[in-house]
Amino acid sequence: MGTQYYIYYAVIYVFVFLFGAAVGSFLNVCIYRLPKEESLIKRNSHCMTCGEEIKRRDLIPIVSWCLLKGKCRACGARISPRYTVVEALNALIWLFVAYKVNVLLNPLNFVLTALVFSALIVVFFMDWDTQLISTYVCIFILVVGIIYYIFNHEDYDLTLVERIIGFFSVSVLLLIIELASKGKAMGRGDVYLMAAAGFFLGWKNSIAALFVALLTGSIAGLIIKHKTKHSVFAFGPWLSLGIAVAILYGDNIVDWYVSFTGINELLA
Ligand SMILES: [Zn+2]
Repeated sequence: MGTQYYIYYAVIYVFVFLFGAAVGSFLNVCIYRLPKEESLIKRNSHCMTCGEEIKRRDLIPIVSWCLLKGKCRACGARISPRYTVVEALNALIWLFVAYKVNVLLNPLNFVLTALVFSALIVVFFMDWDTQLISTYVCIFILVVGIIYYIFNHEDYDLTLVERIIGFFSVSVLLLIIELASKGKAMGRGDVYLMAAAGFFLGWKNSIAALFVALLTGSIAGLIIKHKTKHSVFAFGPWLSLGIAVAILYGDNIVDWYVSFTGINELLA
């Protein structure tokens, strides 16, 4: 690879990081306003303590919070590091996806995968805060999956049948748990999330996502129960984490499982 390629990649990675941070700001707006059904585009950001409108120059992702040392310019109240964490997280995940899918060779693949990760960040934090998963976010993930299916035609791509089975496999299981537990163990949002993500992932990787969600969710559940003495907690954050891991490493998990259990020898 010639030197000019390194320059192309360096420039595109910087651009991906900056744009990822800017989109991260919008994700904060979604996390905060979607549960309240407030408009995502109207009105400016305000300080949560004094209500002062935050000035344009103080709205630069990551940078402003650091320059202001995490305090409101008007009243000095502490501004939660959460906003900056979400911006940085989205920027870093976009950077990693750009590297993983090779953004210059597969730009559409990059954009669609990055958008799904951003949606998963919204699900993670919104469900963590409110125990709600926005139906709009699930529809968004489904639409991205359909666009991905229509426009990305690689040899290794999933077939429509694998995607449709993915749509139903885990979601139907969660729906049964939801109905059997009368919504206590599982919410309808979890069902919609795994249906939409299942179309994007295909059925094998959907099961890998559920596996990671159950593993991380039960560990987190034990820690939360131990620390706070109450066991009410949302499953959506762990589902979104499982989906994220499955997008990046689902094939490795499936391969590991197949060789570990020897299913391939049984089927052969
Ligand atoms: Zn203030």
